[in-house]
Amino acid sequence: MNELELLIDFYRNHDLLGPGSEATTLQALDLIPDARNRSLQIADIGCGTGASTLTLARYTRAQITAVDLFPAFLETLQRRVAHLGLQDRVTTLEKSMDDLPFAPESLDVIWSEGAIYNMGFQAGVSAWYEFLKPGGYLAVSEITWITQDRPASVAEFWQAEYPQIDTAAPKFSILEQAGYTPIGYFVLPKGDWMNHYYAPLEASFTDFLERHGQAAEAQALVREQQNEIRLYREYQDYYSYGFYLARKNG
Ligand code: SAH
Repeated sequence: MNELELLIDFYRNHDLLGPGSEATTLQALDLIPDARNRSLQIADIGCGTGASTLTLARYTRAQITAVDLFPAFLETLQRRVAHLGLQDRVTTLEKSMDDLPFAPESLDVIWSEGAIYNMGFQAGVSAWYEFLKPGGYLAVSEITWITQDRPASVAEFWQAEYPQIDTAAPKFSILEQAGYTPIGYFVLPKGDWMNHYYAPLEASFTDFLERHGQAAEAQALVREQQNEIRLYREYQDYYSYGFYLARKNG
């Protein structure tokens, strides 16, 4: 298996592929007026195995298109959808987030948790704008500095991983320039990182390594994950995910 195949194999059976939780998805959902009761058209972009998709499906009456680049994640999501009997509410779509087939002004809500970094926050919010109805909502979580200053070591790590990492105010500015009005923001709690995301990953390392016969590439992947977790443990007061809610003008 190459590096990408290993990464997909590592994540495909996890419920959550980035920091988050049901409570966080609902906190963001409830910033959108009456979102639980309207029959909304929602796209969940970079849905992974569908953590947020399933929460949105369970707590709203929406029709949801769950988009991801990798079919293995969508297969897991389809199984979960079938298990919960939500097939009539959730459709999966294997597509890249920078090449979406939605009709202009066809969506009420664009949702994306921990995924927009794949095309970059600025490019993402600009590209997705046309698919939203006027007055439609964008709900996006994105890694964010939560203090004005930070130690060089953590700054260097995240600058290298994701050069668009920033504090929240410049992200609001990007949203405003792209034609949105920011309507809400909150920072994901530490439990969304450690308990909901990193703990299940840590618990799966041994199995994953055994499954791949302790292959060097598999060990490298685990080391990289462990490194990221160590960094979070040490520097969690400096960064988190921010959840950005914005309304398309007009
Ligand atoms: N929203 C999910 C997954 C977050 S991880 C969760 O919170 O659990 C980021 C996701 O983006 C992964 O599922 C990955 O497969 C997907 N992804 C990466 N590049 C992508 C692209 N170009 N287009 C669509 N999805 C992409």
